[in-house]
Amino acid sequence: MFGRSLYAVFAVLALTTTAACGGGQGSYASIVDKAKNDKKLVIGVKADQPGLGLRTPDGTFTGFDVEVATYVAKQLGVEPSGITFKETVTANREAFIEQGQVDMVVATYSITDARKQKVSFAGPYFVAGQALLVRADEAALTGPQALNGKKLCSVAGSTPAQKVKTEYAKEVQLQEERTYSACVDRVLGGQLDALTTDNVILAGYAAQHAGKLKVVGEPFSTEKYGIGLKKDDTAGRNAVNDALAKMFSDGSWQKALEASVGASGFPVPAAPQLERY
Ligand code: GLU
Repeated sequence: MFGRSLYAVFAVLALTTTAACGGGQGSYASIVDKAKNDKKLVIGVKADQPGLGLRTPDGTFTGFDVEVATYVAKQLGVEPSGITFKETVTANREAFIEQGQVDMVVATYSITDARKQKVSFAGPYFVAGQALLVRADEAALTGPQALNGKKLCSVAGSTPAQKVKTEYAKEVQLQEERTYSACVDRVLGGQLDALTTDNVILAGYAAQHAGKLKVVGEPFSTEKYGIGLKKDDTAGRNAVNDALAKMFSDGSWQKALEASVGASGFPVPAAPQLERY
C-alpha cells in the first residue's frame, strides 16, 4: 500500500513538473542540455517570407532560416523529426525567447544592442540591408532619397520601421503592420506606396509577384542576422556559433542560400564573420 501511494506521489510530481515546463524549453541550463537530453527543440521562424521562412500549404516550413535552423539543430544532436517550428512575428521574438515559448529564433532577426538587453545572439549568419519594394510601374520612388510625401509600410518592432521613424519621420507616413505579407497586400492594392525592410526579404516578395513588384534603392542600413537565444545561455551561444562555423566551412551554408534566397535572383554573398562575445 505504502509503495503504491508513494508511486502516486511521484507520478503527480512528475506530471506537475512536465506541465510547468510545457511548451518551449522549461528548466534546462542551456539549449545544449535540452538538445542532448530531449532530442527536441522548438524553433521560432517566420511563416510568410518566401526564401527565408515560409509555411507551405502542407504545414511544413521552408527557406534559408529553416535550413540554418535545421543544420544547427543537427549539430546540437536534434534530428529534423525532433524540431517543432513555431511561427514568430517580428514583434514577439524577444518575448517568445524570454518566456521559453521557443528555444531559439532564426527569423531574419537583426542583432542590435537594444535586443541584446533581453536575448543573446549567435552569428551573424547573413548580412542584409534595408531597401524598398514598390509596384513595378512606380517611376518616381527610386530610393530613400525620393521618399517625400510617400506612404510607407513596415512591420511593428522591426529595425527598418525604427529607422523610418527616427530618420524619415518628417517626409513619410508610416503604417506598421504585424507581418510583411500584410504590407505586400497594401502595396499591391495601391493603398500604400512602398514596403521597406531588408533587401533579401523584399527580393523574395518581388520574385513571388514577378512583374508586379520590384526592389529599389541601394541598401541603406546594415542588418546582421543572428540566432536568438536566452540572454544568459553562453554555452548555447558558443555551440550555435560552432555549428554556424561548420555550416560556413563545409559548403552547406552556400548551398542552402543558393537554393532558397538565390532562387529569387538575390546575389549570394560570402559568409560573414562570426561575432563571438
Ligand atoms: N532584420 C530586421 C529586424 O530584425 C527586419 C526583418 C524582420 O522584421 O524580421 O527587425
